Amino acid sequence: MKAFGVIALGALSATALAETIHTKVAILGGGVSGISAALNLTLNGVNDFVLVEARDELAGRAQTKKLGNTTIELGCNWVQGLGTNPINELSLKYGLKTTNTDYGDVSYIDQDGTAMGLNIFIFRFDGLYGKMQDMGLKRLADGEVDISGRTGLSLAGWMPETPMDSAIEYFAYDWETGETPEVSSMDFSALNGVAYSSDFGPDADHDRMVIDQRGFKYIFQKEAQRVFKKNDKRLKLNTKVKSIAYNKNSVTITTDKDTIIADYAITTFSLGVLQHRDVKWVPEMPDWKLEGLFGFHMATYTKIFLEFPTKFWDNTEFTLYANPTRGLHSAWQNMNAPNYFPNKEGNYIFMVTVTQDYSYHVEAMTDSQVQDELMGVLKKMYGDKIPNPTGIIVPRWHSNPLFRGSYSNWPIGELDQHHENMIAPLHNRVFFAGEAMSKRYFGFLQGAWTTGANAASAVNQCLKKKCPTATYYPKLYNAKSKGDKVKRDIV
Ligand SMILES: Cc1cc2nc3c(=O)[nH]c(=O)nc-3n(C[C@H](O)[C@H](O)[C@H](O)COP(=O)(O)OP(=O)(O)OC[C@H]3O[C@@H](n4cnc5c(N)ncnc54)[C@H](O)[C@@H]3O)c2cc1C
Repeated sequence: MKAFGVIALGALSATALAETIHTKVAILGGGVSGISAALNLTLNGVNDFVLVEARDELAGRAQTKKLGNTTIELGCNWVQGLGTNPINELSLKYGLKTTNTDYGDVSYIDQDGTAMGLNIFIFRFDGLYGKMQDMGLKRLADGEVDISGRTGLSLAGWMPETPMDSAIEYFAYDWETGETPEVSSMDFSALNGVAYSSDFGPDADHDRMVIDQRGFKYIFQKEAQRVFKKNDKRLKLNTKVKSIAYNKNSVTITTDKDTIIADYAITTFSLGVLQHRDVKWVPEMPDWKLEGLFGFHMATYTKIFLEFPTKFWDNTEFTLYANPTRGLHSAWQNMNAPNYFPNKEGNYIFMVTVTQDYSYHVEAMTDSQVQDELMGVLKKMYGDKIPNPTGIIVPRWHSNPLFRGSYSNWPIGELDQHHENMIAPLHNRVFFAGEAMSKRYFGFLQGAWTTGANAASAVNQCLKKKCPTATYYPKLYNAKSKGDKVKRDIV
């Protein structure tokens, strides 16, 4: 009876404490795009906003964990594109410690554990990859229909024959896009691939791997401090959005703590969260929008870190293992390569990446089951005498309801117009930001940063004058054949 009374009182006081907050702008999600939106509003003199984030810190998919003495990145790890890339500028501004990655510095191990001196293979593939990218860009410029990455690779002359060919292809393709060439768009992957080298000035065509022990998140959290001072009531951490109700006049956001009534909202939830219906929309988003959102892909990219007492793998930065099953535990990275983390006794880290189905496979296992499976592979690569690991980290991006995957990938079948529909605001009241909303930089941090700023600029215009005109396509039709006469004699 007494216990019942306490619970009832607790429930009552929680209800009594639930606030209704009125604000001009609600930013939903505090990852890189949410921080960028908050900063943009602030710099434009708009201070009447709140930012709602479910986690206990800002920076979203920029997350770290300690493995022994080393802080490793669970999520984003590379500044991809230098020069005027805003992420590179932040990295330089805060003196982030980064290092070069040499993707040609690879050891190759055959399926029976034999070392293969086959550096030439990666270069053979690279040339063809470039050829495929050029084809994709030309097709985009000419307005030709999209084809899959697999069709593009085949047209470029690549035909994987052996498990090592598949490992090389996986390393060059899925290891970047998070998905197979079969399901990926050739044209938009090509655009995405060159955007970071061509958009940010002459020296941009490189990347830098972050090894800073403050973590990649440091630079984003420092930018957030330009907006939110200590105990700033506008920053609502540990607060989960449950539903978003919108109409022509306002947006009402219900969280697990309070209700926020805003003139405008900027949602920055990942594509996976939007697809998974983790947040309820009232009314449901229109079909033209859902078609674009559901059609896009949220890939899962899982970096599994193993810590060992001694180092038994090669000194090269990468090791490719010709696993007969394509994509399964074949791309390894030596985290103690020269210029990476220092070789510290008892803290040697070997990292393997899996994607998509193998990410789901791994996420369904316990850490010790994953470790056993990886030890089976490592013993095939290096023999039975290798030591047991002293630590393991297995991120689970797909099962995490705040992310539902790692980053987006443009699939074959998604049109340019579908993507415009994904970005289009609802009633000029709810605006969409986040990496997936960037046509050029989807999947990358710069996609998150620029879309956050763009959405905030649009809201700023709404507040100060008139909302910018947004385009959307209520219905999309099949591509019409342009060449209506077939000249048979040419074939
Ligand atoms: C494994 C991995 C490797 C990557 N590697 C790179 C790389 O090397 N280089 C690169 O440029 N990019 C990389 N990325 C991609 C990059 O991390 C993302 O593009 C970027 O961080 C996305 O930021 P965002 O703001 O769009 O989304 P998010 O970071 O997902 O931000 C959205 C926020 O919304 C919050 N949220 C979700 N649901 C709710 C809710 N109901 N209520 C309240 N809050 C909620 C989440 O907690 C999150 O903080 C990688 C990502 C991963 C996961």
